Amino acid sequence: MTALAANDLPQTVWLLQGVTFDTVLQYAFVVILLILFAILRAVRPGIVMAESAAADPSSDPSSSSPRRWFGSLARRLRSGTPSAERADVAVLAARLTEGFASSSLAERLARVRAEIKGRIVFTTSFGLEDQAIAHVIFTQDLAIEVVTLDTGRLFPETHRVWAETERRYGRRIRGLYPDHRGLETLVARQGIDGFRSSVTARQKCCFVRKVEPLGRALAGAAVWISGMRADQSANRSGMAYAAVDEAHGVLKVNPLFDWTRARVVDFVHEQAIPYNTLHDRGFLSIGCAPCTRAVAPGEPERAGRWWWEQEGKKECGLHVPRTVARPATNSASAPADAQGAVP
Ligand code: SF4
Repeated sequence: MTALAANDLPQTVWLLQGVTFDTVLQYAFVVILLILFAILRAVRPGIVMAESAAADPSSDPSSSSPRRWFGSLARRLRSGTPSAERADVAVLAARLTEGFASSSLAERLARVRAEIKGRIVFTTSFGLEDQAIAHVIFTQDLAIEVVTLDTGRLFPETHRVWAETERRYGRRIRGLYPDHRGLETLVARQGIDGFRSSVTARQKCCFVRKVEPLGRALAGAAVWISGMRADQSANRSGMAYAAVDEAHGVLKVNPLFDWTRARVVDFVHEQAIPYNTLHDRGFLSIGCAPCTRAVAPGEPERAGRWWWEQEGKKECGLHVPRTVARPATNSASAPADAQGAVP
């Protein structure tokens, strides 16, 4: 090591003083930037959630311009075909739709799995239709993710059938929960049951508890499978067996699109599939506990959902009827028969 010469000392001190001063300034600047960044990170998500819900409760932060995501969806569907475009996705939807009417539920799901290379997500709310689909996925061991949106307001009976289904099939069903900041902001603003005050307030609640978690469930997925049937409501009769869901950037497939409720009830009975016991007490369509009631004989299937609102507006924002491809065969006119409970 070289010893410091006596005549080097003034220069060294000057250098040390200069370096120390600059360093202090630089460090101070960096520390201020880090503090500002940390504050922004902590505050921004809550602001974004509150702004989204307030400005457009049906909006989905995970969605983007169709132009931006169509190429991405095509690649997820076809495992990396770079030239795939919007038309290709629509063609694929139309191809899946071809001949679906004559195939069984198991054949429909197996075909979707065989045709699509990307991730497939099935969302269940443990209704009869969802239980039928989950039964096929689990018993056929199809590589389809099964997830549910636990809003925090579900019936105890729904949690019971969730647990019973996991026991029966030996498979875990992934639960997605509301973002805690968005939920805290919502409850602070409208109260714990504020959704009753207006349709807008209800849509804000559904956005925070359902739509936003759904966006996370479908992020990166190619296909979304749902248990919707066309004859459940006038709104749903306009939907398709397989079509592009622009709101979520996925191909959406409804494998029970043309089934009647009676057919679903029969299937669940024949296969001894676990089901929500609320169905035996007049609940035909089951959602959150404070927003669902039993229906009287002859009432529409979804009359028990948000019953204080006008008919025709009863959707929570999950199933937005935006389609690109329509099925060649549409059984939307199937009769809304057999609204009874599972025998
Ligand atoms: S169904 Fe009711 S409780 Fe559930 S998310 Fe919608 S408004 Fe909120």
